[in-house]
Amino acid sequence: MALIPRERVEEFRVERIAELQDFRRAGIKVIGYFSYYAPVEIIRVAGAIPVRLMRGGYDAEVRGERYLRSDACPVCLSTMGNFDMARSERAADSLYALVDAIVGVNTCDLLHRLPESIHRYFNLPVFELYMPRTSEPLPHRLTEFKRQLEWLAAELAAFTGQEFERERLTPEVRSSNHVRGLLRTLDDRRKHDGPALTESDVLNLVTLATILDGKRFAQFAADVELKAGSRPRSSNRSRLMLGGSEVAEQDRWLVETIEQKADIVTDLLSEGTRWFADDCNTEGDAMDNLTNFYFTRSPCMTRRPNDEVYANAQRRVEEFRVHGLVYKTLLYCDPWNFEAVRLRKEIGIPMLHIDGNYSTENREQLRTRVEAFLENL
Ligand code: SF4
Repeated sequence: MALIPRERVEEFRVERIAELQDFRRAGIKVIGYFSYYAPVEIIRVAGAIPVRLMRGGYDAEVRGERYLRSDACPVCLSTMGNFDMARSERAADSLYALVDAIVGVNTCDLLHRLPESIHRYFNLPVFELYMPRTSEPLPHRLTEFKRQLEWLAAELAAFTGQEFERERLTPEVRSSNHVRGLLRTLDDRRKHDGPALTESDVLNLVTLATILDGKRFAQFAADVELKAGSRPRSSNRSRLMLGGSEVAEQDRWLVETIEQKADIVTDLLSEGTRWFADDCNTEGDAMDNLTNFYFTRSPCMTRRPNDEVYANAQRRVEEFRVHGLVYKTLLYCDPWNFEAVRLRKEIGIPMLHIDGNYSTENREQLRTRVEAFLENL
């Protein structure tokens, strides 16, 4: 059973939305972002508040077809749909209604088109970073990426009307490292049998870490740590890893279904363990450190070479004693979909690949596939 009920996450969301409304009334800007390559420390030092937008939802996905071709991935469709719904009375209190601008990082083609479409249809300013597809951190690529981070800092400071105080970058990095460290400590508990923390908990924690103020989140994470420590352990259930495209907040059905019968003990997700896997250096020049950190952050399938994604998967299989991989890709998400064949060959454990959108129609069929997979482990 999850330690963090879904209702608690929704309560936090409502509280945070009220806080953000107050900040906006006081003239402070709220900046939305999607990719975990977005440098939130720069947004904060520029005087704005970053919030990750990863709500998802089937209604929003369908609504998004008004703006993007229907063969866009569900993440991008639902993002457009959520912006559209945020402008209706029905969802006037959504985070999507509160953002003053977007910071986009175009790691895949769709994440390049998405900010442009948001600007075009919803008239929001967008600041786009180009993340080189080639992931080896060669000096000329780092130099170019640093130039873009400097550009972003200057643009955001002009947007908020605040001075960009570079000396505040390292303290912001320390604060991000602190939050990631808390999450790693909690995540380590999943190495044991009968893990105290479920995958739903980890996804909820990362969701909250990307929405809440750092201090508020740290308080909450300490409470979760206490609860996790007092939970009795015993389990002979299968230990699984979850991988694939982004798992949005309203796309948790599969995770919850698997967790009725097995333990998901680790994942390959940017909304999960990859979000807190690494820390940023705090010695020396802060902008150099951020450049290195974001350029080399635990890689995803959108960049090449992607051997490190496979190495990370194999490390996790060993460290967390994983019996099987559930690989959930989203419809039209080519970067993750195309890798399913190689992953099946290389991972060395049984793998179930599920491809779909946010629709609820085929859930019973999926449940049967998951159960058959678990029985054969
Ligand atoms: S990586 Fe896949 S799911 Fe994510 S934005 Fe790109 S196409 Fe969509």
